[in-house]
Amino acid sequence: MTHNNESGQVLLAADDSMSSPEENEFALRCPECGEATGLHIDGVVVENAGGQRVQVEADGEDSGARLDVRLETGQPHDGRRHKFTLTGSCEHCGGSFSLGFKQHKGTTFFSKTFTP
Ligand SMILES: [Zn+2]
Repeated sequence: MTHNNESGQVLLAADDSMSSPEENEFALRCPECGEATGLHIDGVVVENAGGQRVQVEADGEDSGARLDVRLETGQPHDGRRHKFTLTGSCEHCGGSFSLGFKQHKGTTFFSKTFTP
């Protein structure tokens, strides 16, 4: 599934053949190479404008699954409110990526970084 309009960009896409729209479940494509299998989103970072930062890393499967949670205080990001960043990797392109959602003055800004 893709959503597009005349002035917007497609920031994330789904593989229609693997998705179930009737169940509101969409197979997300890798934001770098576009493959819909082998994509892993394993972490989230929540930052606020005061410099607080929580990082959660998920690892393992089934009863061996673990969460690593860290709270830190450091330099604030450049927005007035908070920022959520999803971190992950892709088995196909072999890189790691982060997808950021930063709130600033009533607008949410999306950013993507990729490290091969
Ligand atoms: Zn990829």
